[in-house]
Amino acid sequence: MQPVQTISLSAAGNDSPPDQSWQSQLSGALRDPKALLAAVGLDERWLPGAEGGHQAFEVRVPQAYLSRIQKGNPNDPLLRQVLPLESEMHTVAGYVTDPLEEADHTPAAGLIHKYAARVLMITSGACAINCRYCFRRHFPYEDHAASRAQWGKTLDYLRHDDSLIEAILSGGDPLVSSDARLAWLVGELDAIPHLKRLRLHTRLPVVIPDRVDDAMLEWLGATRLQKVIVLHINHANEIDDSVMKACERLKGVGVTLLNQSVLLRGVNDNTEVLAGLSERLFEAGILPYYLHVLDPVAGAAHFDVPDHEARQLHEALRDRLPGFLVPRLVREIPGEQAKSPIEAWPAAQPSR
Ligand SMILES: *Cc1c(COP(=O)(O)O)cnc(C)c1O
Ligand code: SF4
Repeated sequence: MQPVQTISLSAAGNDSPPDQSWQSQLSGALRDPKALLAAVGLDERWLPGAEGGHQAFEVRVPQAYLSRIQKGNPNDPLLRQVLPLESEMHTVAGYVTDPLEEADHTPAAGLIHKYAARVLMITSGACAINCRYCFRRHFPYEDHAASRAQWGKTLDYLRHDDSLIEAILSGGDPLVSSDARLAWLVGELDAIPHLKRLRLHTRLPVVIPDRVDDAMLEWLGATRLQKVIVLHINHANEIDDSVMKACERLKGVGVTLLNQSVLLRGVNDNTEVLAGLSERLFEAGILPYYLHVLDPVAGAAHFDVPDHEARQLHEALRDRLPGFLVPRLVREIPGEQAKSPIEAWPAAQPSR
């Protein structure tokens, strides 16, 4: 035993491999537009757009995600999600900073209660990756990411409303928070008798798969609550072997895995890509849940796919995939009690 241990320790010392903890991958994420262009082999032509967009919403790309981007291809579907373009700076009518009017639905700091039986808790203002199409790119997180003391009020709200069945941890990305903090919070939720389900909306197991480590599986595995994780994946290329493994570990502690995507011009706006995504998700043990049309957030108009085209794509998906691999095509309309389906135009009824 002893010699083997010594060899592996000295090998590690000599090659000085980077610290691969998820925390170091998170803090080591690329945050410089110039460095991003260099890393993906694109020239200075892209720099003004990248720097302009970065001013409004910082570039942030973890290494694990970066490694899945094809070098030298400005149209790479993963790159397009993280590289700011000149067009972000154009003002487009109808594209606003708070498209979902969430500011009106926050009964306590860190809480958004819009829908029946479920409440969304903002556990962290930060994300591991900054997606250019994000509807929260202008969200005043400083006001909402609650301190531990404020959590007291938020938890009281949940304790006193016994119509609530599901607590949804969102953000930002809830898995940016430490395991100690999440273990504490989930423990508090666990003790609220009317809650049955814990849901997390996260991109971390995709963009830094090492986030799914033993410490995380410990608090996740320990709760009595049923667990759902909704991942955010927009293209099959985002799922490599390390993501597959992370999913397997999550399923190992009883997590149901779902996915939501955003329909994005130049990323996944064709049937082939969307069908490929569904197939790849299922290989990873994930079921497609929602396909969102873009929220009209300022700076993201270049990602828009008009409704009539979204409907056509969705119909084409239904024609070629089993029903369980067809995500629901939805939009979020402020004031509605749920996400609103974008239905196919009603077909004429056959006369009898
Ligand atoms: C999307 C969303 C939910 C969850 O909706 P589901 O249809 O259950 O996935 C809950 N609260 C808020 C504020 C939301 O935006
Ligand atoms: S909230 Fe989601 S979509 Fe927005 S930047 Fe974070 S990970 Fe990306």
